[in-house]
Amino acid sequence: MFHKNCYHRFKLSILLGSVLWVTLLSLVGCKTVPISVLTRAVLEIHVIDVGYGESLLLKTPTQRFMLWDGGYPEKGPIVCDYLSQQGVRHLDLIVNSHPHPDHIGGLSTVLSHFSVTEIWGSHALDFPEIPNDFREMVSETQTPYKIVRRGHTWQWTDQIALEILHPVQLVPDLNDSSLVCRLSFGRTIILLTADIGPAAQQELLSNFGSSLRSTFMTVPHHGGISHLPFFKIVNPDLISLSVGENPWGNPKAQTLEFLKNMGLTIKRTDELGSLVFRCDDEGKINPAYPDQNTASQVDK
Ligand SMILES: [Zn+2]
Repeated sequence: MFHKNCYHRFKLSILLGSVLWVTLLSLVGCKTVPISVLTRAVLEIHVIDVGYGESLLLKTPTQRFMLWDGGYPEKGPIVCDYLSQQGVRHLDLIVNSHPHPDHIGGLSTVLSHFSVTEIWGSHALDFPEIPNDFREMVSETQTPYKIVRRGHTWQWTDQIALEILHPVQLVPDLNDSSLVCRLSFGRTIILLTADIGPAAQQELLSNFGSSLRSTFMTVPHHGGISHLPFFKIVNPDLISLSVGENPWGNPKAQTLEFLKNMGLTIKRTDELGSLVFRCDDEGKINPAYPDQNTASQVDK
C-alpha cells in the first residue's frame, strides 16, 4: 500500500528533481545564449569550418535549410555531420557558387545523405571542371539542377527572399564567374560573395552602388586581393572569413588591414572553428556564442 506520507515525499522528490533539472539545463544552455538576446524570429547563418574552402548552412526561423557550397571532397562527411547535428533532414536548396574543388567537392557526399529540392549552379553540368561524382549524384538522385544568373529571384519563405546578383554571364576566370547571392530577411541583408575577385567586385559596385549595403557578408575569395572600395560600400556590421592553410597566401595582409581599419572584427574559421550568427528581421545580428563575441564591433 502507498502510504500518504510516502506519497507526499514522492511528490516532493519529483518537484525537487524537476527544479534540479531545470537549473542544470539552464546552466548547460548558458553556453549558447546570445550576448544580446534577439526577441524576434531568428535566421541562423552557420559558417562551417571546412579548412580552406567554403560551406555555409542557413536555417530559417521555421527550421528550413539551405546549403551554400560544401568544401573540398574530403570535407563532405564533416559537412554532413554538421548538418545532422543541426537537425537537417531535407535541404530546400543547395547552391554551388562555382565548380572549384574547395566549393563543389563535398557536395556529392551531401547529396548522397540528404534529400534536396533543387540545386543552383553557375555552370552547366557538362562543364569539364564539374567533378564526375557530383554530376552522377545529381542524376542518380534526380535533383533538379538550375543554372542561375543575375536577376534570378526566389521567395524562400514568407519572410526570406534570395536574389542572384552575379554573374550576368560567365567569364574565363572561374572565381569571377562565382554566384553572388543576396538574402533579404526584413531589414537584414546577407551577402554571400564566394570567390569573386577585384574585377567582379568592381562590376558589382558600378552596377548596384550603395544598394549593396549589407548587414553581414562573407569575405570574398578567402581574403584574397580585393577591390577595397567594395567593402566600404557593402559596409557590413559583421563579416566572416572561411579560410585554412593554403599555398596562395590567403588571406592577404592588405585585405585584412583594410577591414580592420574599417573597424570590423573578422570572424575566421581558422581561428574560431565553425561560426554561428543569429539575426532578426530588423537588422540586428550577433555571433551566437559569447566566445565569438569578444572584441566584436557589432554596434556601428
Ligand atoms: Zn575558394
